[in-house]
Amino acid sequence: MLRRDPLFMLIALGGNAFQSKGDRGTPQEYWRNAYIVADMVASLVERGYKVVLTHGNGPQVGVIDLWMQSLRDKIPPMTLDIAGAMTQGWLGYLLMQSIDNELARRGLLDKVKGVVALVNQVVVRRDDPAWNNPSKYIGAYYSKEEAEKLAEREGWVVKPDPRGGWRRVVPSPDPVDNVEKEAVRKLVDDGWIVVASGGGGIPVVRENNGLRGVEAVIDKDLAAERLATALGTGHFIILTDVEKVYLNYGTPQATPLDEMTIEEAKKYYEEGHFKPGSMGPKVLASIRFVEHGGLEARIGHLKRGLEVVECNSGTRILRKHGQPCFKASKTS
Ligand code: ADP
Ligand code: MG
Repeated sequence: MLRRDPLFMLIALGGNAFQSKGDRGTPQEYWRNAYIVADMVASLVERGYKVVLTHGNGPQVGVIDLWMQSLRDKIPPMTLDIAGAMTQGWLGYLLMQSIDNELARRGLLDKVKGVVALVNQVVVRRDDPAWNNPSKYIGAYYSKEEAEKLAEREGWVVKPDPRGGWRRVVPSPDPVDNVEKEAVRKLVDDGWIVVASGGGGIPVVRENNGLRGVEAVIDKDLAAERLATALGTGHFIILTDVEKVYLNYGTPQATPLDEMTIEEAKKYYEEGHFKPGSMGPKVLASIRFVEHGGLEARIGHLKRGLEVVECNSGTRILRKHGQPCFKASKTS
């Protein structure tokens, strides 16, 4: 097995990191939320951790889709891969500036060179079964009639969303490879904090020895695991909007888990404890990370990132119970 650096971690930020509940989505709110992340990242750097970041983009792709659809008579809409690239620039920029500023404010720019966000492609397979079963809801909510008209005109697949209204659904194929992973590795080795694989990466397929963008979205947690494994990070930290992973989530029997082995996680996964499209891929990504030689994966709340990293909050997914929690000593 690869020797993994316990201080080296990939952190996946949930969709609520930038637009949290109750936000209207103003630039001011985006900056405020970015600085909450920046504060956590600076605290990790201060303690000696080495960090790669990724982020979701569900709300932002939704916003771009709405802009494109409402202006479609004036400006031709872009494709989904291009919209994904836009969100990487949008959120990457916020993270670069806020984290850089926070590192400077705390006098930490001797520990890392700074922050760089990449426009980053992720390869999916052309024969992935997901192509025959588009399941991921994206963009605006329509009435049945509107949705059917759009489906006809744009060649979309539309379905009723359980949350109400009709929406476009797209395939969510399994990520297989991060195209720019060597660049990420070089930047990390050179002392940069890197933001990569944003929104699960820009989905591309390989064909005729080249790449082509496709109309799909990749789950950001599954894509994050591919990158973490490719980089060989020690830990994989998934930050979302719940404190812990639960068994029987959303029922009176709901039970929070402090830790589970990958065998237990697989069993619970098969028993259906983790909803597809939300907690399901987080647990699956965590299992894969540990199976691929990672030390430990964690799932916890975004507002408790530091505590999750130091095992004082969240759910640990590990090889065996009793595995000690690795903590960096505070170096500042
Ligand atoms: P993110 O944007 O962070 O990826 P998601 O909405 O995809 O967020 O996933 C987090 C959500 O998963 C939680 O808000 C919760 O409602 C849901 N969830 C589903 N099953 C579980 C479970 N077993 N334990 C905890 N949360 C769960
Ligand atoms: Mg999610």
